[in-house]
Amino acid sequence: MADPLDPSDATVQRHAEALASLPADDGAAAANAARGLITAAPDDLQVTGDEGRVIWSLADYGFLGASAEAPESVHPALWRLARLNMNAGLFEVAEGVYQVRGYDISNMTLIEGDAGVIVVDPLVSPECAAAALALYRQARGERKVSAVLHTHSHVDHFGGIRGVVSDGEAVPIWAPQGFTDAAVSENVIAGAVMVRRAAYMYGSNLERGPRGQVDVAIGKGVSTGRPSLMAVTDEVTETGQQATIDGVLFEFQMVPETEAPAELNFFLPERGALCIVETATQVLHNILTIRGAQVRDALWWSQCLNESIELFGDRAEVLFAGHHWPTWGNEEIAEFLSAQRDLYRLLHDQTIRLASEGFNGEEIAERIELPESLAALWHTRGAYGSLRHNARGIYQRYFGVYDGNPVNLDPLAPTDAGSRYVDAIGGAGRAIEIAAQALAGGDERWAATLAGHVVFADPENVAARELQAAAFEQLGYQTENATWRNAYLTGASELRGGVSSDSLRAQAPDIVRALPTGQLFDAMGTRINAERAAQNDLIVAWNFTDIDEQWTLRVTNGALSTVAGKLAPDAQATVTTTRETLNSLILQEIDAMEAFGSGAISVDGDPMALAGFLGLLDDAPHDFPIVTPRG
Ligand SMILES: [Zn+2]
Repeated sequence: MADPLDPSDATVQRHAEALASLPADDGAAAANAARGLITAAPDDLQVTGDEGRVIWSLADYGFLGASAEAPESVHPALWRLARLNMNAGLFEVAEGVYQVRGYDISNMTLIEGDAGVIVVDPLVSPECAAAALALYRQARGERKVSAVLHTHSHVDHFGGIRGVVSDGEAVPIWAPQGFTDAAVSENVIAGAVMVRRAAYMYGSNLERGPRGQVDVAIGKGVSTGRPSLMAVTDEVTETGQQATIDGVLFEFQMVPETEAPAELNFFLPERGALCIVETATQVLHNILTIRGAQVRDALWWSQCLNESIELFGDRAEVLFAGHHWPTWGNEEIAEFLSAQRDLYRLLHDQTIRLASEGFNGEEIAERIELPESLAALWHTRGAYGSLRHNARGIYQRYFGVYDGNPVNLDPLAPTDAGSRYVDAIGGAGRAIEIAAQALAGGDERWAATLAGHVVFADPENVAARELQAAAFEQLGYQTENATWRNAYLTGASELRGGVSSDSLRAQAPDIVRALPTGQLFDAMGTRINAERAAQNDLIVAWNFTDIDEQWTLRVTNGALSTVAGKLAPDAQATVTTTRETLNSLILQEIDAMEAFGSGAISVDGDPMALAGFLGLLDDAPHDFPIVTPRG
């Protein structure tokens, strides 16, 4: 594959401007990121999973140690953050409170109790969680895991649980109300698309290096083991709730629908330690992530942080979170939390104010700015979420993707727009000429836009692909936002070398098993090919003997509807099987013919009706094109 290009003159100049405009670094972040270090992670840390496959590696990031000065292909603020995120190992946060950082995208927190140690947020992959626990035990002795607490429903805060708890072990598992539903359901409908888009956001397929992936802003990347999930035994349901877990007193604050649908913060009054989880990190977070997700509520998010200050502000001596390093000192914590609160509120209020003046999402993105007092801080910077994308997200939450101007009511699809623009400009050659001039003049966004029209008019046009790749690359080098950088550089790479299909993450059996049957069928419904399905109506009843559930599925007019608790007497086929067999089918551990042959599935009525139903399901390709048209 073609090597990335050198930074252009425009990139070099913007790099210098960025460097001159950054806030002064008082060294506090670097000191906090290193504070309390007990055991440093090995420089060449690698964690392996199934069949010796490397699922986590810090070894590839050695280049970050070479110099504090950013190369011209990396925004200086992102370079600084990428280096701070290399502080990996076991750290003491407060008396009896430890964190393992750098063993996955998230932090694992360990709180020592009377009988053992409470594990908070066991990372994404069981192998990483086990390695983190081993690092802790090496320093603090063979304490048993006395409880697990999941702070929220994102996979980087629960997926590794099987690395710290074995099957059959009686360990209490705490989580906020709604955790399991949210953990298994949040992405079930959108999952296939999100996996593909997440590879762009996290730069999963990029080389690590000054011209490749350097960071993802809340960590180095996402480990690629197989996430797990275990049943919650104890729920936190309300703010103010207290619990003594293994002799340690916890005070909880519920913050659902902020950064995750189910989320909590907690305070350890005996240790003056506040866990703010992911509502306040050392960067601006996402109101709308670029992998695609439902837009979060910036107003409510800010209000929750305000409540955290009211509840715990007086008493907190150290603040720690699911990502990044802690903040020590009551005054420092108050300043940090107030600025984070104001950051999200400002984004929300100013987006709506500008919308009220008639600006649309793209126009607001061009205008929105932080006041100097917030812009002077490092932790409000848009390295993960960006002001611009978040503002568009807030606009979308209130007003949708349509901006009210009828010209945008029925826009041309990209290939149709592309060929018309190219014709209007006077052909592909002329369009490329203009785009090349724009790129040479440092107008990379216009160069990428114009070259993109040529690519969508004619994806075989190599010059256009090269030109757009070159524009993306400079945009990637210039941006402070780690996820934008990864997206631009991945786009460039796929324009030059095509789609890399390594981005597939295996379905996690625990998560499929935990899904309510109705949601499994709903997810299947999104794979029905309506063109084929509309030719015949189908009624298939399902009798799951292991969980005593009955379902009737109808496909009429090409659309699925389901009824729980009923085996319709007019079903063309009634399938008797177990939910476990259905799980295995979905996980592709067995195929339908095999299950039928072994008797794991039996059918009353017309077996072809079942085959017909399964035959309606299109595969969800995990490697569809993004920067070129779908053929
Ligand atoms: Zn997280």
